[in-house]
Amino acid sequence: MKSRRSRVIALALALTLAVRGGALGANGGEAELGRRFMLEVRSQLPLIDDPAVTEYVERVGRRLVGVLGSQQFEYHFYVVQSPELNAFAVPGGYVFVFSGLLARAGNDDELAGVLGHEMGHVSGHHFLRQQSEGQVWNYAALLGILLSAVHPVLAAGAVAAAQTAQLKYSREFEQEADYLGLRYTSQAGYDPHALGSFFKTLLAEQRVNPAGVPAYMLTHPLTEERVAHVETTISAEHLRTPKGRPAASPDMAEVQAVARAVAEPGEVVVSRYRREAEERPDDAERQFLLGRVYQTLGQLEAARTALERCRDLGGLGGRVDRPLGAIYNALMQPDRAREALGRHLARHPDDGWAHLEVGKALAETGDQHAALTEFQRALTLDPDLDEAHRLVGVTLGRKGEEGEGFYHLAMAARLRGDLEQALSQFEHSETLLAEGSPHYTEVEQSIDELRPLVRERARERMERRRAGRRGVFP
Ligand code: ZN
Repeated sequence: MKSRRSRVIALALALTLAVRGGALGANGGEAELGRRFMLEVRSQLPLIDDPAVTEYVERVGRRLVGVLGSQQFEYHFYVVQSPELNAFAVPGGYVFVFSGLLARAGNDDELAGVLGHEMGHVSGHHFLRQQSEGQVWNYAALLGILLSAVHPVLAAGAVAAAQTAQLKYSREFEQEADYLGLRYTSQAGYDPHALGSFFKTLLAEQRVNPAGVPAYMLTHPLTEERVAHVETTISAEHLRTPKGRPAASPDMAEVQAVARAVAEPGEVVVSRYRREAEERPDDAERQFLLGRVYQTLGQLEAARTALERCRDLGGLGGRVDRPLGAIYNALMQPDRAREALGRHLARHPDDGWAHLEVGKALAETGDQHAALTEFQRALTLDPDLDEAHRLVGVTLGRKGEEGEGFYHLAMAARLRGDLEQALSQFEHSETLLAEGSPHYTEVEQSIDELRPLVRERARERMERRRAGRRGVFP
């Protein structure tokens, strides 16, 4: 096992070196590739930012990361807003699960199985190993292949035809990812059998409807043999569901209600959850789920009615407060928003998302100073909250602190994937900030990183336009 493992690492290193000609550094090449992927693709990937969904996936993911020991990569988990049944990992530790898969997963264990498998591809360096040996790849080609797996339609337009290639992992890599993923899930306290049962469901559906191959099976080819191999691995490795394993999360039903509202036709989801709420009108949980479905679909008044009913039925130990507060904010009722969010924050003082919502309510009542404090607190707790960066930027700008204001606006734009905007705002910030001020170096480094990317994107756009013109007028 040890020698196989070192062979694997040697091969990965050789390939990493092989792609260096294409600007992949020898050290941290994969982490760099992942970072570039996120920067360049973020604007084209609609991500779910509902805090219940992101917290849930993050929690399962972190539990798995906890068993990896010393890690090569920092792992990040994202939920893509898409009805497709898909999950995907980008080198360097960026793991994506689609809302279509989340809507379908039966429990925490199945999600853990899928995330563990994706982490297996990352820790096994499969993406780079999959590229033919000795071939010199450049970023554009690698990013094109990654994009094709995550978003086939976009990829077709985003890279030159000669560079596109569909990513499809080999049988050997799929088995290795299964093997690693099963170990992670079992060690983390999840049921390893869940991966096998999830695969069986997929295969059965495939037999019924051979035309509708889920995206997941295109990138991770699934066969009877592979499913059998999962079961063999579990018994050969004596993988058990450890005692004291986490019970099914209480928020799983909420996560699925939101994921379904995103992934499935709205009226179908509403009628299903409404029927369930009407069957037992005194069930707080059913009112809650109905309210969350309406909220996700942007039907604010209906969401408020259902969530208030849930609150009047006891409020599920306070779980209703955060979404209800957000609804009040959206309905421009800041006092009620602050009241509900205040109750939530009394129990969860470190919830950055909730501080952001409180800040919005304070801004609505005209208290810009207190609002800014809340936005900044939100950023301290969760630096990836792009909306908090934006609002800090706007508020500081109004106060005349323009250098810092532009810095935060740039951070928000970069997190949203709007690189052109981010670069221009970092440049504004640089001219306004005093040298040696806290963010000065970071601004300079960000400009250095973004300038070539933005230039390259402009060049690609121009080439595409030129090619397009040639196509029309040969
Ligand atoms: Zn796979």
